[in-house]
Amino acid sequence: MQLFITSLNSGSNGNCYYVGNDREAILVDAGISCRETEKRMKRLGLSMGKVKAIFISHEHSDHIRGIAVLAKKYQLPVFITPATLRNAGLGFTGLQVISFQAEEVISIGKLTVTAFAKQHDAADPHSFVVACGDVKVGVFTDIGVPCANLIHHFQQCHAAFLEANYDDDMLDQGNYPFYLKRRIRGGKGHLSNKQALELFTACKPSFMSHVLLAHLSKNNNCPKLVQELFDAHAGGTEVVVASRFEETPVYTISHTGYRYESISINHKPVVATSAPLQLSLF
Ligand SMILES: [Zn+2]
Ligand SMILES: [Zn+2]
Repeated sequence: MQLFITSLNSGSNGNCYYVGNDREAILVDAGISCRETEKRMKRLGLSMGKVKAIFISHEHSDHIRGIAVLAKKYQLPVFITPATLRNAGLGFTGLQVISFQAEEVISIGKLTVTAFAKQHDAADPHSFVVACGDVKVGVFTDIGVPCANLIHHFQQCHAAFLEANYDDDMLDQGNYPFYLKRRIRGGKGHLSNKQALELFTACKPSFMSHVLLAHLSKNNNCPKLVQELFDAHAGGTEVVVASRFEETPVYTISHTGYRYESISINHKPVVATSAPLQLSLF
């Protein structure tokens, strides 16, 4: 069993992560336009026809601004918690909206998606682990602290999108106002390079083949710095820095000795409401 993964865009200007097998796929977040999503998928040889659902991590605009058009055009169900939906302030009218809860295992064909709660300054933020058989990929961005949940799930993943948002010195010396610096670091903001590296070195399982470092700050980080920092501790893991401007290549994640168990659950639709658009953290 194999999973194919790519970051279509990563950063405060828009996040969209693709995880799929040979028959079906999901997107985690849809923070770039429908047109850009289609264009980037096409360049990679990926088909929107395989995408069966969009999972929403939280309501910040860099994670949701493309949803309405994309979901409507391709008739995709949007998995979103009621609190995130209430705070998203988007036109979900006419969309198939499905609620989920932390630790609920959701089947999308042979993929399973499990959400878990994370620390971030949003209404009800979650991260996701997508599995196909025994192969697991984590999507871990917009996280204030490497909590027990994150550590637990990171340790099980064959590949992970892992936030490395800022370099401490660059944030210190940068021109962000004090309140924003404090918000980024305050435990409900973003993971620093140092925090991500500590998690990576202390908790990376021996079978993790790829880490895609994600959601790098435009002003407080540098892709080359992050690449070098993680390369020095990579062991056998391929380190990829996901771009704010373009898609990464598609990576194939596999695991020998696979075992598959299908688990189905019932989903209850939730009612769409509108609320002010939440701004993203840088
Ligand atoms: Zn974000
Ligand atoms: Zn966020």
